[in-house]
Amino acid sequence: MSHQPSGQSDCLFCKIGRKDVPASLVYEDDQMFVLNDINPQAPLHALVIPRLHIATLNALAVEHDALVGAMMRRAAAVAAGRGYAERGFRTVFNTNADGGQAVYHIHLHVLGGRSLAWPPG
Ligand code: AMP
Ligand code: ZN
Repeated sequence: MSHQPSGQSDCLFCKIGRKDVPASLVYEDDQMFVLNDINPQAPLHALVIPRLHIATLNALAVEHDALVGAMMRRAAAVAAGRGYAERGFRTVFNTNADGGQAVYHIHLHVLGGRSLAWPPG
């Protein structure tokens, strides 16, 4: 149930991936899409989202390794495209309650364009 390529009917990111919910994608291919976060926390705040519904990082399996690797490379490409490769950027997966996850379909946050504090709040 949690790995249906066609997506889950009640999942926001599956709906966006199927174009059931409009969103302005900044990149898409057969594996993933990238959109600007609706509530940006930095000048660049994009989300790299796989088309495959995977609820949390806890559900990752070895079969997802290539997909997640491609997501990481896409995140770096998005940051580089905005000119932030050298000055730096941050990539984050939030997982479950303590991680601050709100949408239960994995997504990689890409933040850049300002100096980001560490440790995070
Ligand atoms: P997380 O808390 O890691 O699950 O992150 C979910 C992110 O999705 C938040 O940063 C939200 O601002 C963002 N978000 C929620 N709905 C949308 C949407 N329709 N389009 C773009 N970003 C969204
Ligand atoms: Zn989904």
